[in-house]
Amino acid sequence: MSPSAAEPSQAGVTDRLLAANAQYSAEFTDPGMDARPVLGVAVVACMDARIDLHRALGLELGDCHTIRNAGGVVTDDTIRSLTISQRALGTRSVVLIHHTGCGLLDITEDFRHDVELAVGQRPPWAVEAFWDLDSDMRQAIQRVRNSPFLPFRDDVRGFVFDVRTGLLREIDPGVTAER
Ligand SMILES: [Zn+2]
Repeated sequence: MSPSAAEPSQAGVTDRLLAANAQYSAEFTDPGMDARPVLGVAVVACMDARIDLHRALGLELGDCHTIRNAGGVVTDDTIRSLTISQRALGTRSVVLIHHTGCGLLDITEDFRHDVELAVGQRPPWAVEAFWDLDSDMRQAIQRVRNSPFLPFRDDVRGFVFDVRTGLLREIDPGVTAER
C-alpha cells in the first residue's frame, strides 16, 4: 500500500470507520450468543496495530475476551478485567502476549517524568516500560498467578509474538506459581 491522495485526512479517519461499520452492519446477522466466551479464554495482549489477534490465533467471533493495552502489561486494570472475565463470564484460561518491536522497549519511566513536565501534573500510572521481553513476560505470568482475585490460575501461559514472522514463542515461566 503506497501513501496516496486517496488516503483520508486524519480528521476524516473516524468517518471512514463509520462507513465501514455501516457496511458491516448491513451484512451482519445476530449470532445469538451470550457474553460468555465460547472457548473460556482471556487473551491479554499489546495494543500494537500489527497484531491481528483473531487471525493470528484462529479465533472466531465470540471465542475469547481480548484485553489490550500498551505493552500487554498486567496492570491493576488488567486484573480487574480478568476478574470479571473469570468470575462473571466463565473464562478459565489466560494467554499473555508480548511482541517483538514493542514501543515499550524504546521508552523508560522517564516518559512519565516528561509528561509531568509537559502538563504540570504527575500521571497516576506507571509507564510499565520494559527492556527485556522474556523477563517482563515472566513477571506478567507471576502477576496473574499471584492475584488473589482470580479463581483460575492453573492455565496461564505467556508468549512473544514475532511481528515479522507472525509466530508465537512460548516463554518458560521459570518459577512455580505461589499458592
Ligand atoms: Zn507493543
